[in-house]
Amino acid sequence: MNDEFRRPGARRVGQVKEVTSLSNPIVKDIKSLTNKKDREDTGTFLAEGLKLIIDAVELGWEIRTLVYAKAAKGKPLVEQVAAKTVARGGLVLEVSEKVLSSITRRDNPQMVVGVFEQQWKRLDQLTLEKGQTFVALDRVRDPGNLGTIIRTADAAGASGVILVGDCTDPFSLETVRATMGSVFAMPVYRASAEEFLGWAKRSGGQIVATHLAGAVDYRTIDYDRKPTILLMGNEQSGLPEQLASAADRLARIPQAGRADSLNLAVATAVMLFEVRRTHLSLEAK
Ligand code: SAM
Repeated sequence: MNDEFRRPGARRVGQVKEVTSLSNPIVKDIKSLTNKKDREDTGTFLAEGLKLIIDAVELGWEIRTLVYAKAAKGKPLVEQVAAKTVARGGLVLEVSEKVLSSITRRDNPQMVVGVFEQQWKRLDQLTLEKGQTFVALDRVRDPGNLGTIIRTADAAGASGVILVGDCTDPFSLETVRATMGSVFAMPVYRASAEEFLGWAKRSGGQIVATHLAGAVDYRTIDYDRKPTILLMGNEQSGLPEQLASAADRLARIPQAGRADSLNLAVATAVMLFEVRRTHLSLEAK
């Protein structure tokens, strides 16, 4: 892999390059970010779409490389974000549509793609505040579910998402796509089950875990008495005993019909908007 991407802390002198070859080594390095290992090694990830990239840069996310299609050249917003990338020591690539398609693995790619530095928050430095809600996900496996949950957590006014145990990567292309930009707004934490439980115990919050065997109707819980940590189970196996037994409340969403359970992202959305009910209003936004 190209050295520029190997050293996450390294700063480069900002520059603009024109690239049309699929075998260009920088293009190859960017394409490799669809692999988890390369994302981990470099501490970076890919995000697509001009508006989303502009927002991310404005929110202070470090952009390493901006890639745009020749057809986007000269557009004022593209020029502005390119100038900001260069000013921050990043690299700007002007590429053919063929190169952009191969980076994003799409026939009709977005005109602009960014390589950003990943940001992980530390759970041991997280102190809960009144009125806050966090979503904790036990071994979430599906990238689309995780992306949808990050987007929903953002929309419901949650303060962060905690990945417990071995979860799918929040910085994969599929997850980032499903977040629709919320990956840049929602702090993401990760922890083992033991670390999570230790932190939750000290945090002063209440763990409300959802479980198909929960005896409590989710609409009867007081979510405002303490900051709420909403704990959701794995898609296949649900919550293990170790996590379920540590919960302050075990909530269930009543169901009709033939389905045994709701999809994880749907169940999280139903829960989140109930937990956040008193904080959300049409006037607030
Ligand atoms: N077979 C799994 C089980 O036995 O738990 C189903 C898991 S379900 C697809 C994924 C997660 O969504 C569950 O662990 C739970 O957190 C949540 N969930 C889905 N439907 C629910 C319901 N009706 N009530 C409470 N939680 C639910």
